[in-house]
Amino acid sequence: MPQDHNESYEEALERVRARRLAAAEQRRRRSRALGLTALGIGVLVVAGIVLSQVWGSGGTGDEAVPGNATTSSSPGGSKPAEPGAATRDRDGWRPWKGPVPILMYHPIQEPVEGNPYPDLFLTKEDFADQVRWLEEAGYQAVTLEEVLNSWFEDGVLPPKPVVLSFDDGYQSQYENAFPLMKRLGWPGVLNLKALESDIYDSQVEEMVAAGWEVASHSATHPDLPSLSDSQLEDEMVRSRRILEKQFATRVTDFCYPAGSYDDRVIAAVRGAGYRSATSTEPGLARPSDRWSLDRIRIELGDGAAELESKLVSAGA
Ligand SMILES: [Zn+2]
Repeated sequence: MPQDHNESYEEALERVRARRLAAAEQRRRRSRALGLTALGIGVLVVAGIVLSQVWGSGGTGDEAVPGNATTSSSPGGSKPAEPGAATRDRDGWRPWKGPVPILMYHPIQEPVEGNPYPDLFLTKEDFADQVRWLEEAGYQAVTLEEVLNSWFEDGVLPPKPVVLSFDDGYQSQYENAFPLMKRLGWPGVLNLKALESDIYDSQVEEMVAAGWEVASHSATHPDLPSLSDSQLEDEMVRSRRILEKQFATRVTDFCYPAGSYDDRVIAAVRGAGYRSATSTEPGLARPSDRWSLDRIRIELGDGAAELESKLVSAGA
């Protein structure tokens, strides 16, 4: 989405509020539709039980046990949230101060017709191939927070750690990346714009509940080096405050919009209390580069083989 840079913070807030309202309305409509579907399934299940009892009792000639339909328990009832990645098996994890690959993803879907940056897309099939390859190669996904805890504190990491980071916040990241990773108990890092994301808040909440880290990708995705000092501070401090409040989670890492930063921007990130910042420069992330962590860019058409060769050429 092109950004109107003359727009004030308040105007941006107003626009986002309107978008949130529209999204909430869409969610309401969707859950109503889901409710109707569940009702339909419920009717079918009950009808099935009645039929099976009829057929069952008719078929055996015996007196069927009446009232034995205990399996008809509330179909479509909401199931409780799963504990998520908190229950990960940490067997074999150890302190690690060395480099870690951070993969950089954008939308996980077929390129959208007319989008000026088709290379940013990755199909869900290619993404699935990559995750399958990573798992078979012995990699385990961790959050950036876990990497920093191991680098700078007494945290531990798996023998082959990898961070899967997703920029900007797209619904396709929730729809096509999150379920696959959840099945493996893998968390990811969502680099979220505080005011301008395509992803629904409820989707982010679900990802956070499954162990995902939310990092700040600024409030409005501006070119940070061109901002005034106060605008810069605003993007750093307020984006963090908004995201922490919105998702009731700690936001400790920053991701430079479009990978653009300079010494003044780094000073602002540090001043705002972040622990690290990711860039778009290629390579492995190292503890000596905590204010400009390299990442491995994943592009359209990258399958398992391309991921492997990118990891190898980065030195993983
Ligand atoms: Zn971005």
